[in-house]
Amino acid sequence: MSTIFTKIINREIPGEIVYEDDHVVAFKDIVPFAPVHIIIVTRAEISGVASLPDTGDHTYMLNAAKTIAEQQGLTNGYRLVVNQGEDGGQTVNHLHMHLLGGRLLNWPPG
Ligand code: AMP
Repeated sequence: MSTIFTKIINREIPGEIVYEDDHVVAFKDIVPFAPVHIIIVTRAEISGVASLPDTGDHTYMLNAAKTIAEQQGLTNGYRLVVNQGEDGGQTVNHLHMHLLGGRLLNWPPG
């Protein structure tokens, strides 16, 4: 069964897609924590960092994040977050990166 993020990628369920290329798709988070909160997800259904293959779509995530941040006008900075597993707060088991920006972000996270 495909993940909820694959369903967004395949337009089976709605998603506000802001970027896509051959390796990743990015869409607005449904529960934004910042003025800009975008989920960048691999087209491949990699379940998380703990099961990364040696090569593949995930190697393009950072470059996509840089491009999307520029497109979103985040000239004053932003944060990239990848949650892994239960302690990391991962809720969707399909590798994704959060791009957060548009306000001063607190540190450290909870
Ligand atoms: P994580 O907790 O790191 O696994 O992040 C999953 C993120 O996906 C959360 O921030 C959710 O708000 C977001 N999310 C879940 N379902 C959807 C959806 N249908 N459309 C957009 N974002 C979603």
